[in-house]
Amino acid sequence: MTADELKNRLEFYRDLGVEYIYRRGETAAGRAPVAIAAEPLVTAPAMKPAGAPAAREAQPQTMAPIAAEKFTVLPSLENSTDTLEQIRLDIGDCHRCRLSEKRLSIVFGSGSENTKLVFVGEGPGADEDEQGLPFVGRAGQLLTQMIENTAAKEGIPIRRADVYICNVVKCRPPENRTPLPDEMQTCGQFLYRQLLTIQPKAICALGATAMKALLDTKEGITKQRGKWHKWRDIPMMVTYHPSYLLRQYNQQARREAWEDLKTLFHFVYD
Ligand code: URA
Repeated sequence: MTADELKNRLEFYRDLGVEYIYRRGETAAGRAPVAIAAEPLVTAPAMKPAGAPAAREAQPQTMAPIAAEKFTVLPSLENSTDTLEQIRLDIGDCHRCRLSEKRLSIVFGSGSENTKLVFVGEGPGADEDEQGLPFVGRAGQLLTQMIENTAAKEGIPIRRADVYICNVVKCRPPENRTPLPDEMQTCGQFLYRQLLTIQPKAICALGATAMKALLDTKEGITKQRGKWHKWRDIPMMVTYHPSYLLRQYNQQARREAWEDLKTLFHFVYD
């Protein structure tokens, strides 16, 4: 494992709420496997590295006495001094995953930082990659309409600029393919920090990728949409991705998405 891979893995465990790790004593083969101490897991989000065991399974059955100096305390993600500006600085000119190879821009997020509502999409498309802003293409225009028309009809005085919009991955996947689990894991740490920093009253996960990044579920989006879930104690609504709603035959899904937004807006703004 390279130093970068190890760092990503440690950050991933930290994101799960695991604060301590230790190295067990040398094995017969002379290697010292890294194990996770039996710290309670905070609400477990769904992301885990491809092929990795679930964090709970990774806990050793019996734990050998651990020398104090072998503990590493990971800095908490829930750092009250974190800011969106700092998160963007930490992303830097990111080359943590293969999505950096073809991207034009890192699409961090846009909207109000003091908002009560954050929308999370999948990842930038071509228009977003060119402009460096999330949801500015066709799907973005539909999202803007959905937000502004629903708010207007329901008598809620908000515009798109009053919410915050970002994505699970910040770089465009080639050919607009779905982000791979390791890409979601690597970039997801920054999404988590954005959400923890903004601390909205509610989150709206747009589509299956955002849902999988934030919710531990095996069920599909049609089962999970329209219901309240939680991401680390923050209420979360799952609804269809606007790109899906753009497909012509999805009248019924459109109606459902509008219902989901109505429920969401009344919860957040009433
Ligand atoms: N689709 C997304 O998921 N995000 C964007 O920013 C644009 C399209």
